[in-house]
Order: sequence, then C-alpha cells, then structure tokens
Amino acid sequence: MTHFTISLIGGDGIGPELANSAISLLNSINDNCSDLKFKILEVEAGDTAKEKYGVALPDFSFDAVKKSDACLKAPVGEYAADVILVLRRYFDLYANVRPARSYPNVKSISPSIDLVTVRENTEDVYLGWEFAIDDETVIALRLTTAKASNQIAEYAFREARRRNKGKKVVAVHKANVMRKGDGLFASICRKVASKYPDINYSELYVDACAMNLIRNPEDFDVILTSNLFGDIISDEAAQVVGGLGLSPAANVGQDFALFEPVHGAAFDIANKNIANPSSIFLSIKLMLEWLSDRNESNGELKMMANHIENVLVKLLTENIKTKDIGGTLHTNEFTKEFLRRMF
Ligand code: ATP
Repeated sequence: MTHFTISLIGGDGIGPELANSAISLLNSINDNCSDLKFKILEVEAGDTAKEKYGVALPDFSFDAVKKSDACLKAPVGEYAADVILVLRRYFDLYANVRPARSYPNVKSISPSIDLVTVRENTEDVYLGWEFAIDDETVIALRLTTAKASNQIAEYAFREARRRNKGKKVVAVHKANVMRKGDGLFASICRKVASKYPDINYSELYVDACAMNLIRNPEDFDVILTSNLFGDIISDEAAQVVGGLGLSPAANVGQDFALFEPVHGAAFDIANKNIANPSSIFLSIKLMLEWLSDRNESNGELKMMANHIENVLVKLLTENIKTKDIGGTLHTNEFTKEFLRRMF
C-alpha cells in the first residue's frame, strides 16, 4: 500500500466548491483502491487567509505544503500571486504543463485536438523587473538563461516521448525580434532536439503559433515555449478546445509538483453551485500521473489517472455536463454522477 499526503489549497471564489469535489474524488479512490491511500491536508491560503491572518500564505500553511508529497490548489482570488509565485519559487517548479484536448459534445474548433503546452515557469518578464525612468517611460527586463532553457526543453522532449502521440515538439519564440534572448532559447532547444532523434522538432514564431492554433490545432503535440508566450498560448489552446472549465495545469519541479485548474477564482459564478469541477478532476489526473512516474511499482496510480479521464469522456459522450459547456447539471450533481461512474 502506498500512502501519499496531499496538501489541498481551497482558495477563493469557486475554489472551495471545486476543492469539495476534489475531496470527494480522492476519498472515493481511498475507499475503492486497495494499494492507494491519500491523506488530505486542507491548507488555508488566499484572500480569506489574507483577511484572517494578514498574509495570503501563512507560515503554518506553507509548512503544511512543505510536508506534503504534492499540492493540489483550487483557484485563489486577488492574492493569487502571493500564493502561487511563492510556491513556484520555493519548490523551483520550473515547468508549467497545460494539456488541451477536445472532448465529445464540447464545442471545439476541431474534434481531434490533443496537445500540451510546456511553459518555462521561472524567468522572462514574470520576474517583475520593471523600472520607471520617469512618468512617461518604463524599462522592463526579460531574463533568459541557458540553464532554464535547457531544463524546460529537456522536459518537453521527455513529455513528447511519454505521451507517445504525435512525437512532435515545436519550440515557440520570437528570435527574429529578440535575437539574443530568444536566440539563446532557440539554440538550446535545437541542441536538446539533437538528443531526441525519435521526436520530430520544428520551430514557430509566436504570432504564427497563435494563428496556427486556430487554423490547424490538431497538428500540435508538444508546444515548448517561454513564460509569457506560454501563458498566452495555453489560454488560447484552452479556449480552442471549449473553455476553461476543462483545463488543468501542472507546475513541476525536480522533487515537488503542484496541480491546479488553469482558470481563476471566477467570482461571477461563486457560491452558485454551477462551477465545472472537471478542471480539478483533470488536475488530479495529472497529479496521479506525476506520482505514478515516481512510484512505478504502484500500478493503481496510472490506472486511476486514465480512469478519471475515461469517466469524463463517458459522461460528456452521454451529454452529462455542467452549464458552462451547455449542460444543466450543478457542481454537486455532476460530481455525484462522476463518482457513480468511477467505481
Ligand atoms: P483570473 O484570475 O485569470 O483573473 P477570473 O476569476 O477572472 O480569473 P477566469 O479564470 O479568467 O476567471 O475565467 C473566466 C470566466 O470563465 C469566469 O468568470 C467564469 O464565468 C468562467 N469559468 C472559469 N472557470 C470555470 C469553471 N470551472 N466552471 C464554470 N465556468 C468557469
């Protein structure tokens, strides 16, 4: 039997509703799998924690996350950056991995999209190095290093092998304009590509990538890119396959990983019991895959990961859906249907 401690950040807005669905799914795995047990550590972080304790990520919450094997995070509101950026930096979660695939009965540009954006997560303009020269002029610095480029490129090629789908990696940059920074990124990607002869490697400028994601999204397999471009391209990919309610993300480091829906706290629909929990179910799927890669002897991890996505496909095929994607079910009703089909 393998025991895992999962820290769960409940978050804000629709976060607590999604966290409840996540707890139900993990508990039903506990009840039905003989070799797999999850201990859930509920962690306070986000706007409510800021209000209560004066900080969005109190020390006791940070310590709980540090003690866990992996973190599952529901969306946080206003103070999202004070939580996720701190955790990304502390655990050096260098890869942001965002799959996007078309599902049955969900409005998508094409029925056969199955791609993943692998986004560098530690550098670029996200360091916030902006300097006002005067009231009318601001200079922003953009960091690109060979080390981080190499690390993310290696991750993307390994991911293409692991997925075993199109076996394609496209590096997305703008080296014709940012000749030095993106020039370095592209040259490192080419070097790493030469070590993976079984993977088809190409490059696209980010503007062409944005266009082709709409023109022929089914041609993409793994998109390898830097932080800002990855943020934009992955949101576009989520929309191309039918919306944010079905979009999970993994933030992966050497020894730790954090899994979360791509979307934000969506205050407009909070406490209405209409949020789509699929984004957190698919985040759990990514978490089980990550745990499975590190615990190969436990076959139930991989089996459950596949099963979660298969159950979702089955429900959507039967047109059992939440409101955001054209259905009628409330969050708790959809969660109930989901769990009924899990076991
Ligand atoms: P951000 O933190 O990025 O500003 P946000 O809170 O504005 O995020 P988004 O994540 O950008 O929300 O989502 C945009 C809209 O999509 C939401 O306002 C909501 O209506 C809808 N949406 C997002 N996630 C879900 C979900 N899981 N279920 C149903 N609708 C959703």
